[in-house]
Amino acid sequence: MKSLPFAIEATAGAARAATLTTARGDIRTPVFMPVGTQGAVRTLSPHHLLETKSQIILANTYHLSQRPGEALVAKHGGLHKMMQVNVPILTDSGGFQVFSLKKASVTEEGVTFAYELDGKQTFLSPERSMEIQQALGADIAMVFDECLAFGTDKEAAARSVDRTARWEQRSKDAHHRADQSLFGIVQGGFWADLRARSAKQITSIGFDGYAIGGLSVGEGHAIMCDVLDWTTPHLPADKPRYLMGVGRPLDLVEGVARGIDMFDCVIATRHARGGVFYTSKGRVRITDKRYRVDMYPVDTSCDCYACANFTRAYIHHLFRVGEVLGSILATIHNLHWFARFMGDMRKSIIDGSFEAFRAHVHEVWPESTEPAPVAAWGSDMDDPPATAEGLPAARRGPRPAAPKPARPPARPGPRR
Ligand SMILES: [Zn+2]
Repeated sequence: MKSLPFAIEATAGAARAATLTTARGDIRTPVFMPVGTQGAVRTLSPHHLLETKSQIILANTYHLSQRPGEALVAKHGGLHKMMQVNVPILTDSGGFQVFSLKKASVTEEGVTFAYELDGKQTFLSPERSMEIQQALGADIAMVFDECLAFGTDKEAAARSVDRTARWEQRSKDAHHRADQSLFGIVQGGFWADLRARSAKQITSIGFDGYAIGGLSVGEGHAIMCDVLDWTTPHLPADKPRYLMGVGRPLDLVEGVARGIDMFDCVIATRHARGGVFYTSKGRVRITDKRYRVDMYPVDTSCDCYACANFTRAYIHHLFRVGEVLGSILATIHNLHWFARFMGDMRKSIIDGSFEAFRAHVHEVWPESTEPAPVAAWGSDMDDPPATAEGLPAARRGPRPAAPKPARPPARPGPRR
């Protein structure tokens, strides 16, 4: 494991502004990590990615191990060389994806499942996940944990917490790459005592950072905040903390207020491909008729490549005719917006105005107008497999996919 220097520069209550030092440069936190599930941030070239000022991106162990396979990635010299990306990369462990599959069979040894695209029988364990992630060669790897389904009873959850601790110890024992950091994951469902138990077990194993898993599964904003309140006090203050799968503006600011430093979520990129822009005044659906002849940039306060050069009318047109450039521009804008949002939050922690920033976020992004949690879309992938190679949303129907009103799914699968 490579230790990850983490220097806290300022605090505001539990919120922290810090710097993570990696071999590929410093990461100023709090930070939002765009998702590049299949070894690419969808629609963006590495040159575009630079435009967004994203500091670190996430890639997916489960999907990359299936296609193109970690051996091919290693043949390129690792993910960074294959993708031609110079920012740090974090790989998830594959745990969440596997547990979200209906036919996964779990034993103490690991999980057996049929790959969702071709039905191929596959086995994933702490050792196998570490083998894949070390071959992928990201800067930060994640331990293999057991994700709880929403609605698991407490007795089963307690057993799962203990198994997760054993799996995370096995992950650490199997991790030998000296230039890669390894984060632990705290589970424990929706019980304060189980969260505390998991945090104690995982921190006593000892990792370079700690993630909070099992959230964004349809529990809603208030319960997410409760779980953070039960968990972060048990995590060491001098290590980075990562809230997995969470990325709505309100969740981000309340996560930071509870001491979280890192976040990832597919909504910024997925919504972009549906023509939904995040702006200083809330979400804009560029496909709305009212933008048909609108000569202003999408966000008049944004200096991203899309807003600096193109009109709402042109981008509306691109989505209307299904030109992929519409998705590219929207993705550049949204990732740039999330990077700036986190940067502004960081500044507010440093200059003592975090509470004012937090109040402003509540004003612009009230909980009731937020889209459904990611799990409600049926997959954590940055698009379901059926459309993985597909067309932008605007080509699939007269009206592009748009965020739905907050409504927990009837029986959501685990998000992380
Ligand atoms: Zn912009």
